[in-house]
Amino acid sequence: MKRFLFATIPFLCLLNCTNTAEEQVDVLIQHANVIDVNTGEVSGEMSIGIRNDSIVYLGNGNSNFSASQTIDATGKYVIPGLWDMHVHFRGGDELIGENKNLLPLFVANGITGVREAGGDMTTEIFKWRAEMENGSLIGPMIYTSGPKLDGPRATWAGSIPVVTKEDAVIAIDSLEQMNVDFIKLYDSRVTREAYIWILEEAERRGIRTSGHMPFTVMLEEAVTAGLGSVEHLYYILKGSSTEEQQVTDDNINRKASFWGSMTTLMDSYSEEQAQKAFKMLVDNDTYVTPTMHIGNTLSYLDRDDHSNDEYLNYIGEGIIETYQGRIRSAARASEEFIAMRHRLNTAFKNLVPKMSAAGVSLLAGSDSGASNSYTYQGISLHQELAALVDAGLSPIEALKAATINGAKFLRVEDFYGTLAVGKSGDVLVLDANPLEDITNTQKINTLVMKSKTYSSADLKAMLESVRK
Ligand SMILES: [Zn+2]
Repeated sequence: MKRFLFATIPFLCLLNCTNTAEEQVDVLIQHANVIDVNTGEVSGEMSIGIRNDSIVYLGNGNSNFSASQTIDATGKYVIPGLWDMHVHFRGGDELIGENKNLLPLFVANGITGVREAGGDMTTEIFKWRAEMENGSLIGPMIYTSGPKLDGPRATWAGSIPVVTKEDAVIAIDSLEQMNVDFIKLYDSRVTREAYIWILEEAERRGIRTSGHMPFTVMLEEAVTAGLGSVEHLYYILKGSSTEEQQVTDDNINRKASFWGSMTTLMDSYSEEQAQKAFKMLVDNDTYVTPTMHIGNTLSYLDRDDHSNDEYLNYIGEGIIETYQGRIRSAARASEEFIAMRHRLNTAFKNLVPKMSAAGVSLLAGSDSGASNSYTYQGISLHQELAALVDAGLSPIEALKAATINGAKFLRVEDFYGTLAVGKSGDVLVLDANPLEDITNTQKINTLVMKSKTYSSADLKAMLESVRK
């Protein structure tokens, strides 16, 4: 891209030779501290020139730009736009409008991309994408899996049932026809055989997969069959247990259930086994999405009162109604089950820094969506980053999980995930350093998205536009 710069300057001069050579950019950010999310290095006094969605200049040399908009970023920190790597748009036709209304909540929180991990409104998502493309709708870029793959009579509406090997081929054909960005597997009804067939077929076609994992499958089987990212930590805990084979067999023989296996798995956690599992994940380039914030929220529904949560004002009534499912089951839970969930949440928290230290690539995902009680679109990604740091990640590791790691998972890191010439110009200018305090990701001074700038006042207004 440097060559491009040199080529452009004389060309502009031909058009306007009375001035010294000036390059036209849409947005020029000056005097910024730029954070390299790969290394954690901060470079001061930097200028960033953005034109047509892309960074065309990044440096502190002599630059001569004519900019439509200039941002003085003195004392501020610039990072790539954040990505929430696990969200859902769902809830049936009657909630399409409410789901669409959630889109500004992401942007108002500096989230420029989301990975939609399965739902029942794929056709709508593609319509929204077209509207966002032509500028008539504001929202984050959406990468979607389309409907989940599962067994027959699956938990989530819209899931495609897979029973036979042929079903797996047909299901993946249909997803490819829909032009989805990856495949999401769920574990409510799918058999171990069908689950592995799906992974193998996707692997054959070079399509990324992400999923839950039935407890009838060993972690190693899923990973070696090609599972791209493991969603939630149940399956990592299972792979860290010396009893994994026994628990798997008991689930195959219906002698144990998913929830009924958790205490055994926690009791038989082994550091050695965990390190083996982490190494296997690293060797196979398998990502893990810990979803800590929603875990903290759902595990403590028994004691936390959410009735005054500020974000309830921004979420549609129909979606809030779907929160009742998990609230009711929490209310029905036995004391023993509640205690087990608390313990499980702590066990998950302990896994996070260990995975990171072992080199496992983590993804920051909120799991916000209808039915996922009190996990609010947009803000919950920041809460996830805080939860990851609270669990023991360094702020830079948390930032990676919401930027470069997501881009790598989706294989779009050539354009997204870091700040560099030729890469995406979707950037956040923060008032304070997120490497000192990860909650500074919430102190957004300016968002640049698609070469448009949004001040903190603009973002506040965007949020308020959704208020009921
Ligand atoms: Zn989910």
